[in-house]
Amino acid sequence: MTSWSDLRSMNIEELTEILTANGEKRFRAGQIFSWLHRKLIVSPEEMTNVPAACLDRLLAEHPLYGVTEVERYTSRIDGTCKYLFSLHDGNMIESVMMPYKHGNSVCISSQAGCRMGCRFCASTLAGLSRNLYPSEMLDQIYAVSRLSGVRVSHVVVMGTGEPFDNFEALARMISILSGPEGLNISRRNITVSTCGLVPRMYEFADLFPQVTLAVSLHAPDDRLRRTLMPVANLYPMKELMEAAGYYVHKTGRRITFEYSLIEGVNDSLDCAAGLAALVGGMNCHINLIPVNPVKERGYRSSESRTVKEFRRYLEQRKIQVTVRREMGRDIQAACGQLRRSHIERSGS
Ligand code: SAH
Repeated sequence: MTSWSDLRSMNIEELTEILTANGEKRFRAGQIFSWLHRKLIVSPEEMTNVPAACLDRLLAEHPLYGVTEVERYTSRIDGTCKYLFSLHDGNMIESVMMPYKHGNSVCISSQAGCRMGCRFCASTLAGLSRNLYPSEMLDQIYAVSRLSGVRVSHVVVMGTGEPFDNFEALARMISILSGPEGLNISRRNITVSTCGLVPRMYEFADLFPQVTLAVSLHAPDDRLRRTLMPVANLYPMKELMEAAGYYVHKTGRRITFEYSLIEGVNDSLDCAAGLAALVGGMNCHINLIPVNPVKERGYRSSESRTVKEFRRYLEQRKIQVTVRREMGRDIQAACGQLRRSHIERSGS
């Protein structure tokens, strides 16, 4: 059972059921769904071809939730645009729009806060406030599209939160986003990043074989990974790599491993050797991310020479590797920092 029944979280089948139970014609469901997920309306009054009585009755039990812009920062360096949004209950989340040559990519949050506790991450400092509804994940994409006036072609679920800790809502969001009655964004253009909730990785590979999976690794072995990511105590590396292998085997697609480089912690050539041995032979791609310093955490980003050497070591062993381009550094576009600074400013 799902715990959301707000208007924009419902799929077309549920909407049809509710409307016909209210004595409405079936076509109303398609009409309303299209206003919500194609025309991307903000307020119910915009549904001009739907009778007020029909809408009033629907909204009485199924409110229209979404996100409201609170702050916006545009990077002068690369055009990255970061939004701080508020939710109907006052929670704050953030989303980022990144313009690339191949299209516009939106990075969305899946939870308000996070309970995974990764040591280098700002999003988890105040713990988990609550899960986002499918509507709130979708409306981040819709709002960015409305507010920036661009067509969104790619979506990455890499903002605040652990998407696999909010699995049902994530699954609903992907279905609506990639559905023909919605924005119809190709599942191949959607990426979900997880810290490695192993049972959900299997489920995800079965349900969404076309969606790209990224796994946050950040260490080559259990001993080091446990010092950085508490989730490693729950799922040892061996199980994590088996689940990654399952995804690759099941989907025939390349998996991404994220590896944030922290000075003096996980950036030695020994670590690179361990990483190469760990992933060697798997159809994968390693995304190196020089860690974004978070002031509460005390970690520093690896020197660019160290990053280069780490990268070269992997490349020489025929492992596909990229270094994540640092986007929007001038606007705190990294990982929960804007939401965090807002929480601090408002004194909560
Ligand atoms: N919970 C998911 C997705 C959100 S974080 C996950 O863990 O994958 C997206 C990526 O940013 C993850 O790889 C995460 O480990 C990384 N990350 C978090 N804080 C960071 C920081 N300060 N610097 C660099 N990468 C960071």
